[in-house]
Parts: sequence; C-alpha cells; structure tokens
Amino acid sequence: MTDKDSDGNGRRGSWLQWFGLRFAADEPESEPERPRPASPAGAYRDPTAREIWLPAKRRMLGKVADFLIDHDLEILPYTLGIAYDCVTGASPRLVQMILERTEQGLPVTLRWLDEAVRDAGPAKAEETLHALMEQLEGDLAKFGDTMKGARTATSEYNSALSRHADDLDAADSTQATIADLTALTRAMIERTRAIESDLVRSEQRAQELQAALEETRRAAEQDHLTGLPNRRAFDYMFDRELREAQAAKEPLALAFVDIDHFKRINDTHGHPAGDRVLRVVAETLDRISDSRCHVARHGGEEFAVLFRGLSLQQAWKRLDGARSEIADRRLVNRANDMPFGQITFSGGLADVFAYPGKSAAMKAADEALYSAKEGGRNQIVMASGPPKEPLKKAA
Ligand code: GH3
Ligand code: MG
Ligand code: MG
Repeated sequence: MTDKDSDGNGRRGSWLQWFGLRFAADEPESEPERPRPASPAGAYRDPTAREIWLPAKRRMLGKVADFLIDHDLEILPYTLGIAYDCVTGASPRLVQMILERTEQGLPVTLRWLDEAVRDAGPAKAEETLHALMEQLEGDLAKFGDTMKGARTATSEYNSALSRHADDLDAADSTQATIADLTALTRAMIERTRAIESDLVRSEQRAQELQAALEETRRAAEQDHLTGLPNRRAFDYMFDRELREAQAAKEPLALAFVDIDHFKRINDTHGHPAGDRVLRVVAETLDRISDSRCHVARHGGEEFAVLFRGLSLQQAWKRLDGARSEIADRRLVNRANDMPFGQITFSGGLADVFAYPGKSAAMKAADEALYSAKEGGRNQIVMASGPPKEPLKKAA
C-alpha cells in the first residue's frame, strides 16, 4: 500500500477504519438513509434481515477488495482470508506489521505475507473460536452422558412404579386410600414416560449437534482446494505433536515444502491448471502421511509436514521419496493436452527439538527450504542447527 495506490480519497482508510483507524477523507461508514421499503399495498413495513445485511455485506466485500488492490495481491483463497482477517480486525498484529512495512515503502508480497502471518500467530477470533468449540464439544459430551443417565434412571423408576401399581391392583383392596395411591402412581407413570421420551429426543439432539460441530470444525480446518488440513489445523497439530513427542521422548521433525517455479505454471497454463497441479502435489505428499506423519497446506504453493517418531534421516528419506515421485511424473494439462514439463518441489527439514522453541524450529526449516531453492531446487535440505538452548524432552 503506497500513496500512489491510494485513489486520493483515502481509500486505504476504507479497510483500516474497520480496525479503528480512520482517515479524514474516508467514505462514511454507514449507508445514506434510504426510504423504508414499501409493502405491495403501499404501506411501510420493517426491512427484512436480508435488506439490512446486504449493504453491510457489500461494504465488507468492498473493503476486502480494496485491501487486495491496495497491496497488489492476487485473488486467492489464501489472500482473501488474510484480507478478511485484516479488515475485520481479527489479526491486529498482522495489520500492525503491514502498516510498518508499507511505511518503510516495502511491498507486501505473498512470500512476505507467509512469514508475517506465521510471526503474527493465529488470528484472535480463530483462537477464541477454537477454544469455544473445544469447550462446547466437551459440554455436549457431558450433556449427552447426563441425558443418558437421566433416561436410564427415569426408565428404571418407571418400571419400578409400574410393578408397584400392578401389585396395588392385585391387592384387591377396596380402601379408598389405596385406590387414590394407585391412580396417583398411574399418573406418575404417564408423566415419567413423557419425560423419558423427551430425554430420548434431547439425547438425539445433543448427538446431532455434536456431529454438526465436528463437521464445522473439519470444514474450518480443511483447505478447500486440496482437502488437506489448512494452516490453522497445522498450528494446532504442531502444538499437539510437540506435546506428545515430548511426553513420549520421541523425535519430531518439521518440513516446509514449496513447489518450484510454480508461478511459471500459472503463467503458462493458467490458474485453474495451476490448481490441478497443486492438488497432484498435495496428493503425492498426502500419501506419505499416517497417524504420526501429518501433511498440511501451509498457504499458497507451500506445504508443511510433521514427522513424529522418525529420525531426521528417516524423515528426510520419506519426504525425498515424495519429491522423486513427483519429479519422475510427466503431468499433462488435461484441458489442452499440453505437457506441464517436470514438476518439482523443494523442502527444508529441521529437528524440532534441536531448537529452543517452535518458532525457531519453523525458522530453521524455512531457512533450509531457502537453501534448497538456492542450491538448485528439486531437493530436500536438512537444517544443521546450531542448537543454542535445545528444548529438553520431558523427564
Ligand atoms: P520458487 O521456485 O522460488 O518457489 O518460485 P515460485 O514461482 O514457485 O514462487 P513465487 O512465490 O514467485 O510464486 C508462487 C506462486 O504461487 C504465485 C501464486 O500465483 C501461486 N499460487 C499461490 N496459491 C495458489 C493457488 O491456490 N492456486 C494457484 N493456481 N496458484 C497459486
Ligand atoms: Mg514456489
Ligand atoms: Mg512459495
């Protein structure tokens, strides 16, 4: 975002103002007052929810578009997500970093964004949402258990009452008290039956909610293009694998993988063909994954891989297998039968426990990836350290 990109009316303010930063020449935040919609009969009626939300949606999309245009960024699911986080204020740290960079007169490129997003950490809203979902899932599970317990108890109570009522009937007593008691018991049996069926419905509802929540979480953490876990899922996965590897005293390796000269593929064959190549690379990488090896799309044409329980050499071998598999294939653009030429990727691999923390290990893997690019691409480079204060495995 530079002054020359601004349209002179302070357009940059249009996305910054969402973040509480306003510029004098900004457009007004609210839409001009419009006449209230008339009903067919001519009488005024209250606007529908759609009529209220549509202008707000348009404004939001406009701000996302301004962000991408101001920074000359391509329209990709990845950049759209970043723009959305910035204009909604979900990533205040990232906005700050972008402001600092543009103030220095430096461009906001995809590569720089990749690093900035990583350094900025997950968006505040994402973290909160994740924590809330975890809590809700836990609460729902407990609710389901309580329902089940209550239903069993109600059902047992009901059977016991039925037995007693039958006994009272069999007592063949004419005493009014016993007759009243029997009637009361029958009424209670009816009532507990109704409660029992309510509980069954609530239990089913809780199970449906749990399944819906699980599905939503899966969708939120999945990359739509490749079907792989996305960067958000990877961040949680990394934390979890780190904890488990520490507890089990197992090694943990991290790799960043980046497709070589991918821009050329897009430029020569078009973006949709580029998407297909991305999917093929994702599938190839996914084939090396298992319960202890996780592959995620980290953004753009970059992937992240975690290897738990493998030495650095073993992890290297596994990743290099995927590298040579893709390098040996000769992919053809199915839209026009034009060969894509050789598709390759480079990777940087680091032993996570050789570094003082998660971000140092990520930086090491990234630097190793850079070395792989510098060294001619189509290769996996291992980060060599040096470890200063290595993370101690749990005692
Ligand atoms: P290098 O070997 O140095 O990595 O070169 P490169 O061309 O792969 O790297 P560069 O960072 O210059 O370009 C990456 C390109 O990846 C730019 C962007 O258009 C493209 N890209 C990122 N995400 C997607 C996507 O989802 N689909 C498609 N088709 N292209 C994408
Ligand atoms: Mg690349
Ligand atoms: Mg890249």
